[in-house]
Amino acid sequence: MRSEVPPLRRHQPPSPLHQRPQPSEPCAVTNIQWTEQTWNPTTGCDRISDGCLNCYALSMAKRLKGMGSAKYQTDGNLTTSGPGFALTTHPDTLTEPLRWKKPRKVFVNSMSDLFHARVPRDFLAQVFAVMAATPQHTYQILTKRPDRAARILTDLCTCGNGHPPGEHFRSSMEWAATPHSPTYVPGLEHGIYHRSGWPLPNVWIGTSVENQKYADLRIPALLKTPAAVRFLSMEPLIGPVDLCGPIVPGRGRPRLTYWLDGRPGYSDPVPTGTGIEMRSLTTGPRLDWVIVGGESGPGARPMNPAWATQIVQECQYSKVAVFVKQLGTVWARENNASDTKGGNPDDWPAELRVREYPTTTEAPRA
Ligand code: SF4
Repeated sequence: MRSEVPPLRRHQPPSPLHQRPQPSEPCAVTNIQWTEQTWNPTTGCDRISDGCLNCYALSMAKRLKGMGSAKYQTDGNLTTSGPGFALTTHPDTLTEPLRWKKPRKVFVNSMSDLFHARVPRDFLAQVFAVMAATPQHTYQILTKRPDRAARILTDLCTCGNGHPPGEHFRSSMEWAATPHSPTYVPGLEHGIYHRSGWPLPNVWIGTSVENQKYADLRIPALLKTPAAVRFLSMEPLIGPVDLCGPIVPGRGRPRLTYWLDGRPGYSDPVPTGTGIEMRSLTTGPRLDWVIVGGESGPGARPMNPAWATQIVQECQYSKVAVFVKQLGTVWARENNASDTKGGNPDDWPAELRVREYPTTTEAPRA
């Protein structure tokens, strides 16, 4: 009976905007319940893995091209991309967030992948400079290319002065806020390097994981990427993914996972004046948030609810926030669900009714 089923668990109430249909959407997300606003400084992309098979943005770009939308008039490679979906930068959109006074969660590049190989590094620095200059907003970046994100945001010093990783990228951000610079973004004020922390406290970076193969490839790269919040979008989930091994009730965890718990280690030695070096126990980067969802739309592939249940249990065991978005079109059809995407939690098994958000009060982890 419905009344016996526990209510949704939430760390914070969803935005009143969260059910609003989004006209331009990303990586197979059709109703982005976990954000409030989209911002597309680039559009277009190329398929890179199994999760891209039914890319929503690719289909949407074709429609937008047919409607004459100016941002979608350049065709991409017909094998990996499609009509209106060539990777294109849009410098004219860079200043949009400067005009949004009310704080909001902003999904960056719902119609592209910000870390696509053809997005120039200087353009990325401009995007990050705008995010640094608008700390009232929280930016959510989702990429299937976390290896490039890690490389760029932790770039090694090439000037011979021994700068720490990422320092040159931060300099490029400052350059984007400097009026006489060729990369200057109008409206930015010089000094963001000193005004902003690093990693930027208002930027969350996530990667898409559709099956175990891409979990193994992308999660380690994400954990090397500096971000205030690191998250996974496991949608469309098309295979089981083991984030930490099955949990046996009453018997605890069979093995540790560094993805959910952080890799244990030791700090640099602290001088004590006694000749004995002291090191404190530390924990390395870990995931902060996991979103799970089945595929929706034409040609949707099935998600076994047991795969989602295991992920929810693993996250709960490690106290990582988890958000179940939908169980997908195939599940909805087979279970005569009230929502065609399986997006109504009232229809789900009780253990899947979880919609949590990460807490962001702690200091960003590098
Ligand atoms: S990476 Fe995302 S936007 Fe790019 S083709 Fe794949 S699903 Fe589409």
